[in-house]
Amino acid sequence: MPADLHTHTTASDGTLAPAALVRCAHAAGVTSLAVTDHDTFAGLAEADAEARRLGLTFVPGVELSTDATGREVHVLGYFCRAGGGPLAELLGEMRAARWRRIEEIVSRLRSAGAPVSLERVAAIAGDGAAGRAHVARALVEAGCAGSVSEAFELYLLPGRPGYVPRRKLHPAEAVRCVVEAGGVAVLAHPGLIGGDEIIPELVAAGLRGIEAYYPAHDPGQVEAYLALADRLGLIATGGSDFHGAGERWGDLGSVTVPDDVVGRLAEAAGRKGE
Ligand code: AMP
Ligand code: ZN
Ligand code: FE
Ligand code: FE
Repeated sequence: MPADLHTHTTASDGTLAPAALVRCAHAAGVTSLAVTDHDTFAGLAEADAEARRLGLTFVPGVELSTDATGREVHVLGYFCRAGGGPLAELLGEMRAARWRRIEEIVSRLRSAGAPVSLERVAAIAGDGAAGRAHVARALVEAGCAGSVSEAFELYLLPGRPGYVPRRKLHPAEAVRCVVEAGGVAVLAHPGLIGGDEIIPELVAAGLRGIEAYYPAHDPGQVEAYLALADRLGLIATGGSDFHGAGERWGDLGSVTVPDDVVGRLAEAAGRKGE
């Protein structure tokens, strides 16, 4: 029974609305699905309702963007309590910072001669947590790049004219906020970080899992992170990081884990049988 535990919707920079994402996951044979939008819970209620309708097991999630010594580190939080508290406050701050960053990115792009407008980026982002992917789509629309990937390469990656660093948040702080919210913290795509040095510190902060299965992990990395999970007593998770059909990363259900992983996550969150 395949579980895809890493997906994005229009609540952040995915292209499918939450209910549509659940329907596509169902059609792809996924039986347990987590929605893990960047810095927001906004898509969870709609996805949960559609999952109930279709008989999928739904796992509420979130993906927090953090930095450790210049490296981008993403922390997944599963089964977090919505509502107030430090995590909700942090997510609100992160979304506000995302928008300030977009304003700065657009201003730099305009100075560099790329005709993108804040209004257009806002329209593309809709209610979702705004990100560089939305700017990239505006750049493609304006004819400045042939694809979203090219827009990143030409304008939005470090060293490019539209690159603006994000608000700094340490991953250990993100892990602590997830734990405080009753959730399970999992290190996303460790193979993309560029080193494993941060992991012990995150485990000390309450990290309970590590995303071993991931589209960009080669078989050696999957093996190495499964072994690491075993050694450190962490739950090995996985998912496609689906952002939309034909977008970068994986197709829905292309990377999955057996659904007993969902039970282990629920247990770690103290939510078994809830
Ligand atoms: P942000 O959170 O605004 O910094 O944007 C990060 C998001 O942009 C990632 O989650 C991906 O969805 C997307 N992204 C990052 N790098 C690339 C790339 N090289 N090509 C296409 N999309 C990318
Ligand atoms: Zn994304
Ligand atoms: Fe990520
Ligand atoms: Fe992701």
